[in-house]
Amino acid sequence: MAKNLCLECGLCCSGKVFEEMTVSLKESKYFKSANLIATDTSSKYRVKFPCNNLQEGNKCSIYRNRPQVCIDYKCGVLKAYENGEMHWDTALNIIKAVKIKPSILKNKFRVSIVEKWYKEYCEDSKEK
Ligand code: SF4
Ligand code: SF4
Repeated sequence: MAKNLCLECGLCCSGKVFEEMTVSLKESKYFKSANLIATDTSSKYRVKFPCNNLQEGNKCSIYRNRPQVCIDYKCGVLKAYENGEMHWDTALNIIKAVKIKPSILKNKFRVSIVEKWYKEYCEDSKEK
């Protein structure tokens, strides 16, 4: 079974990739009121990150009941790893490096951009 990259990461739940997400009224009951912002429609809520359900070890405290948007979202690095286009160690190193330099996420975690930046980051690190 493939290893779980998200448990090594947690960036998209932490507020470093996105500022917020949209959930349904039913899904909104799992979030603290301080994290919820009402929208124009009473059937949708915006949830501010960091998510109040993110736990130690990057676990989700409502994993079985997490919103559809959380089930569906996969960043470029996760997709590349799951498709077999990226080795586990490379994916892990990219995530570690992004945690050190979150500004790279302005590029929406697109794997081609992150890989290019990661190569340059490794070369710069060697020179120091
Ligand atoms: S989807 Fe990507 S950014 Fe989000 S936790 Fe998983 S590896 Fe990290
Ligand atoms: S509900 Fe769980 S998966 Fe969704 S953002 Fe929060 S911690 Fe992450």
